[in-house]
Amino acid sequence: MEGSKLQEAAARCRNKLSRGIANAKNFIKNCSKKIVSFCAGSSNKYKFTRRIIDRKRFGIVCGIIALLVFTSLFVVFSGSAYTVKVNGNTIGKVRSQKVVESALQALKQKYQESEHSEISFTSVVTFEKSRASGKEILKDTALIETLGKNLKFQVQACSVYVDGNIIATLKTKEQAEGMLKEVQDKSLAGADKSKIKEISFAEKVELKNEFIEALKISDKDEILNFIIKGTNELRTHKIVSGESFWSISKRYNMSLGDLQKANPEVNPEKVKIGQVINLIVPKPLISVKTVQTITSIEKAEFEQKVEFSSSLYKDETSIKVKGIYGEKEVIADVTKVNGIETGKTILSEKIIKEPKTQIIVKGTKNPPPKKGTGTFSYPARGSISSRYGMRWGRRHTGIDIAASYGSAVKASDGGVVIWVGYEGGYGKLIKIDHGANFVSYYGHLSKYNVKVGQKVYKGEKIGAVGNTGNSTGPHLHFEIRKNGAVTNPLNYLK
Ligand SMILES: [Zn+2]
Repeated sequence: MEGSKLQEAAARCRNKLSRGIANAKNFIKNCSKKIVSFCAGSSNKYKFTRRIIDRKRFGIVCGIIALLVFTSLFVVFSGSAYTVKVNGNTIGKVRSQKVVESALQALKQKYQESEHSEISFTSVVTFEKSRASGKEILKDTALIETLGKNLKFQVQACSVYVDGNIIATLKTKEQAEGMLKEVQDKSLAGADKSKIKEISFAEKVELKNEFIEALKISDKDEILNFIIKGTNELRTHKIVSGESFWSISKRYNMSLGDLQKANPEVNPEKVKIGQVINLIVPKPLISVKTVQTITSIEKAEFEQKVEFSSSLYKDETSIKVKGIYGEKEVIADVTKVNGIETGKTILSEKIIKEPKTQIIVKGTKNPPPKKGTGTFSYPARGSISSRYGMRWGRRHTGIDIAASYGSAVKASDGGVVIWVGYEGGYGKLIKIDHGANFVSYYGHLSKYNVKVGQKVYKGEKIGAVGNTGNSTGPHLHFEIRKNGAVTNPLNYLK
C-alpha cells in the first residue's frame, strides 16, 4: 500500500512538472513566433528552418537579458556596504570602513577637547560585509551622532597608589603632585622647614598615568581632606554649659588623647559654649615622614661605686655620696611621622657638665637572729619629746621620739610582725611580737617596710617616721606591752 501511494504521488509530480514544461514551451514558442515573424519581415526564404533556429537562440538571449537587467537593477539600487557594529550591536550601514575611521577620529578629537585630556574608546567597533541601498547608508553627521551615543570611552588621568592600592585619581599628574605637596605642607604647618633634612612619605606612594572612566576622577580639594582625615565621615559635638573635654570624651566613649588628636587646634583648657568640636580621629591615608637634625641638652647618667662596711648588716645599704646627673649635648637625626617621633639616630654626644659618681655602702655584718633577744634598743634616732605616764589628765601609753619625716624606724628587738595597718589615733601602726609575752608598737608611721608574719631581727628597718593618726608633727610613738599591759619603755631600752 505504502509503495503504491508513493508511486501515485511521484506520478502526480511528474505530470505537474511535464505540464509546466509544456506551458513554458508554448509560451516561448508563441513569443518567438511573433518576434521572429517581425524580424523576418517579408522574407519567407528558408522560413521553416530559420524559425526553429531563432526560437532556440531567442530563449538564450532572453535569459541573458533578464539576468543583466536584474543584476544591474540590484547594483544600482543596493551597492556593496558594511554593517557597523559596536560591541556586537548593529548601529547602521556604511559604504566604506574609512568613513567610520574618520568619524571615530572626529569624535576622539571632540572628546579630547572637552576633557582636556587623551581619551581611549573602550567599546569595540567591528564591520560585516553586506549590501545596502543609498537610503540605508548613514550620513556622516548621523554616523558621528550614532557612534557618540554608543561608544564608551576612558580619559587619561593620574592615579595615586599608596602601598599598591589606588586611593584617588586626579585629572593630571601635575594636579596629583600638587595634592601630595599640600598633604606635606598641611602636615608640616608650623614646623621650621629650614631644619628639616628630608621629607618623604611613610608609605610607598606612586603616581601612574592611566585611562579611567571620567566619573572616577576626584576633585582635588575633596580628595585632599579625605587623605588627611582617612574618611569622609563627619561627626561633631557642640559644647554646652558645664562640659569639658573630659566629660565629652566619656560621653562618646573616646579617650582624652583621641579627642585631642581629633582637634589638634583646640586648647582643651579653653573650650567655649557653642564651640563645635570634631569627634573623628584622623587616620591619614598618607603619612608625612621627616628627618630633622636636632641638638638637645640631655641628662648625663652618673656612675655608681659600691663600698663594703662591717658596721652594716648584710641586707643593709646606705648612700655615702649621692650621685648627681651631668649634662650632655646630643646631636641626633630625629624621624617623625605626622609630627610624632618614631626614631632617633644619635650622631654625636658631648658631655658639657660631668656627672658625680654615687658611692653606696653595702653591709657585711651577719644580722642577729630573727627572734627576741630579751633586750630592747631605741627604734629611731631623736630626742624623747614626750614620756610615758600621765599627760594632760590622760595616760600616755608610750614614749614619743621626735625624728625627721621619713627617717628609719627599726625593730626594737627581733620577732614576728603581727600587725601592719591603720589603727585609730596611732595612724599607720606596726606591732611586733618578741616572744616571752612582749609586744612593741610603732605609731604615726609614713611608710611600712614589712608585712604581717615576717620575721625581723633586732635593729632591722621596718618603716619610716611620719605624721599619721592623732599627731601634730612627725614623730614616732613607741610602746612596749607586757602580757597585754602598757609599760614604761624606758625601763627596757638600752
Ligand atoms: Zn605618743
